[in-house]
Amino acid sequence: MQKSFKEIKPTLYVVSTPIGNLKDITLRALEVLKEVDFILAEDTRTSGVLLSHYEIKKPMISYHEFNKNFKEDQIIKLLDEGKNLALISDAGTPGISDPGYEIILKVIDKGYHTVSIPGASAILSALVVSGLIIQPFTFIGFLPRKVSEVKALLKDYINRKETLVIYESPLRVEKTIQSLYEHLGDRKVVLARELTKTFETIIRTTLKEATTLEHNTKGEYVIIIEGATKALDLSLSIPKLVKQYIKEGLSEKDAMKAVAKDRNIPKNDVYKAFKIEG
Ligand code: SAM
Repeated sequence: MQKSFKEIKPTLYVVSTPIGNLKDITLRALEVLKEVDFILAEDTRTSGVLLSHYEIKKPMISYHEFNKNFKEDQIIKLLDEGKNLALISDAGTPGISDPGYEIILKVIDKGYHTVSIPGASAILSALVVSGLIIQPFTFIGFLPRKVSEVKALLKDYINRKETLVIYESPLRVEKTIQSLYEHLGDRKVVLARELTKTFETIIRTTLKEATTLEHNTKGEYVIIIEGATKALDLSLSIPKLVKQYIKEGLSEKDAMKAVAKDRNIPKNDVYKAFKIEG
């Protein structure tokens, strides 16, 4: 049991920082960053800009994807010595598609406190202005890079009714929209770009329409996708199921592929059944 403020223990504060607009930081976050002994930062140069803006001078320790395992012992040693630490990432909330998870686990495991200093995160910032159903929602994070893995992942979501939230970098956004359309069919989508910044843009459209648009290759995107409006009945006959998928917005070819996957049968068998009976 952690009594965060009733029992004094060395603490790792997990501090949210802005996702673009330097003003989006809480008074408490600034206070904690000024009070801790060290700041663990994903990129000391990026965080340096924020810290110098608020005139915070603290020793920083770099903690990122590629040195996180190597840094664990050093971080725990500091807590053993009674030091308090703050963990920050380049933007938003650490641990959310950012480094943090492993060190948080380790600190909990060692019996020290982990205290959240809440603030900005792109997930909620995009979701609340999307105009799509806010809850329930599922945060997927970044899609995998491999086409086969994207397909396998999206297949699990095709019938899910909750709103889906994904992160995407500008260079991959067009490819991702295409995959979303191919594997989830047509449905509403919201592209939230550069939130909190001067060029903040929110596009509320459909996946089909989005595949025809030219997307800005600068700035970060949150993509919010409407959940399935009706679940497909997987017990339908093969031709009926193909037709259902087509109705959901898939092309005939993709619908047949999807059924072959659902039934775990060769595509050719679906094709024959659909062409003969359908
Ligand atoms: N920890 C961060 C958070 O709490 O939101 C997310 C870090 S993740 C490495 C970066 C991704 O978050 C970007 O690729 C983008 O998908 C999303 N993101 C971050 N800032 C954003 C912004 N200002 N507008 C839109 N998306 C943003």
